[in-house]
Amino acid sequence: MSNENFRFKVGDFECIAVSDGTHTYAPPIFPLPATFLFANASGEQLEQALREHNLPPEQWAEWVSPYICLTVNTGKHQVLVDTGAGSLGPDTGKLLQNLKVEGIAPEDIDTVILTHGHPDHIGGNTDAGGKLNFPNARYIMWQDEWEFWTSGQAEQKLDEHVREVLLGFARKNLPPLRGQLDLIDHETELVPGLRALAAPGHTPGHMAVAVSSGEEQLLCLSDTVLHPIHLAQPGWYAGVDFVPEQIATTRRRLLNRAATEKALVLAFHFPFPGLGHIIQKGERWEWQPIETGD
Ligand SMILES: [Zn+2]
Repeated sequence: MSNENFRFKVGDFECIAVSDGTHTYAPPIFPLPATFLFANASGEQLEQALREHNLPPEQWAEWVSPYICLTVNTGKHQVLVDTGAGSLGPDTGKLLQNLKVEGIAPEDIDTVILTHGHPDHIGGNTDAGGKLNFPNARYIMWQDEWEFWTSGQAEQKLDEHVREVLLGFARKNLPPLRGQLDLIDHETELVPGLRALAAPGHTPGHMAVAVSSGEEQLLCLSDTVLHPIHLAQPGWYAGVDFVPEQIATTRRRLLNRAATEKALVLAFHFPFPGLGHIIQKGERWEWQPIETGD
C-alpha cells in the first residue's frame, strides 16, 4: 500500500482514504497558523492549547495541511467524497494518480459528493481544459452551497485577499457539473448506506457524510474541524470559516454524535490518513488517531 492511500473497511464497504497531496498555509498569503486556525482564541488559552499539542507558538510558522479524499465502494456504487485541489499548489492534484494506484479509473466513479465549494474540495472536478474528470458521475452538493458560489453571494461576502482564488476555482469547477448535478436541501440518503448530514458553519451549505454498513459507521466530517485543537475548543473558528456563529453548534452536534456512537471519523485536513475516534472528556473532546502500523 502506498503511503498516500489507506484502505479500510466500514462493515462490508471497501473504503480508501486517498491523498490529494498537501498545501502550505503561511504568511504573506495567510496569517500565521495559530491566528489562521484559531482566529478568535485569546492569548493565554491559545498558548496553553498549542503547548498541549506540542506546537510552541513561536516555532509554528506554517501549517502544512493534508488534503484527504475518500472513496467508498458499496458493492453497487463507487463513491468519491471531494475531488481535491487540482492545480491549487505545487503539491496538490494527486488524486487521480493515487486512485490509479488502487485500480480505480475516473470512469469507475458513479457518485461524487462535494462537501463544500472551497478550492481544496472541488479543484479536481475538471481537468486543465475544463472537462469533467469523472465523466460518468452524478454530482451531489447542498443547495445553499451551490447557490452561495454560483449566484453572486460569494462575490459579496469573501475577503478581498482570497476572493479571486476562491471564485476562480468555483467558476472553473462548478458550472460544468450542471448537467449531472443533484442538489439536496435536507438530510437524506445519497446512495444506500451513505447519508448527507447538515454541517453549516465552515461554509453556508457545508455537509458531512455518514457511511454505514452493518454495525459500523464512518463519519466523514470534512472541514467541520480543521485541526485536532478544534475538538478541545469547538468555539475557536478559523479565518476560512465563513459563518462563525454556526460553527460551534455544528461541531458540538457532530462531535457528540461521533463520540456517543463510537464512529470512525475522517477529517479532511488532519494528519494522514485523517482517521480516528473522538473521545468525550467532560465538556471537551479529544482526537485519537487510528493505529496505521507505520
Ligand atoms: Zn478544506
